[in-house]
Amino acid sequence: MRRILVGIKRVIDFNVRVRVRPDGAGVVTDGVKMSANPFDSIALEEALRLRERGEADEVLAVSIGPGEAQQQLRDALAMGADRAILVKSDTALEPLAVAHVFLELAKRESPRLVILGKQAIDDDCSQTGQMLAALWNRPQATFASKLEIQGEAARVTREVDAGLEVIEVDLPAVITTDLRLNEPRYIKLPDIMKAKKKPLDVIEIVSLGVDATPVLKVVKYEAPPQRQKGIIVKDAGELVAALKQRGLA
Ligand code: AMP
Repeated sequence: MRRILVGIKRVIDFNVRVRVRPDGAGVVTDGVKMSANPFDSIALEEALRLRERGEADEVLAVSIGPGEAQQQLRDALAMGADRAILVKSDTALEPLAVAHVFLELAKRESPRLVILGKQAIDDDCSQTGQMLAALWNRPQATFASKLEIQGEAARVTREVDAGLEVIEVDLPAVITTDLRLNEPRYIKLPDIMKAKKKPLDVIEIVSLGVDATPVLKVVKYEAPPQRQKGIIVKDAGELVAALKQRGLA
């Protein structure tokens, strides 16, 4: 079976204004809206399009996180994924541990492609796909803005600083998605009902033999300094005077 594995990370919704906890030990998550990482919805959309074009037989959505992440997986099933796995972990995971989980699943599920987001918007690490490719010893094409399958290879257009780069990688491979790859479809109400009947397996992270002990220690979270209020100047003279007063001219 030609399978595509897609990562779906549960993160604070991108519309929420994130607040740092008063003790500086993290950010406020109580009562905060959570959603799938936006780049992961793009990954899922791309996998669904490949299946619709006959390039895949099954799309498997995977989330690693708390029990509540089943909600994001149900949404992924409603969007069109065939099956989902929640790898349960109640402690926050670093990209290396997540990459090890994907490696174990890749060994079990033998996917043709693993499509992940280019970064998770909560930690902004942009490491998991790259680490997985190295551990799995398979090619990677990161920051994809176009993806075409040609036989047993993928032709990927990547967004790089100088413009666009087109590379070809042998399958199986790891792809990470950029914003312009596609626009994810909306979930339709009847599909939410249908998704309830699709398989969603929950397994414990320990059952995969992955050591999830953190290697990094976060010392402190801090909100960015508040921007000072601006002033309105009448003309260029006033602008220069204001800049001089602040030592900027
Ligand atoms: P990061 O390296 O943390 O920026 O994450 C990059 C991508 O890896 C995300 O967009 C997801 O596709 C995947 N990923 C990271 N953490 C998880 C997780 N806990 N569950 C599922 N996918 C994840």
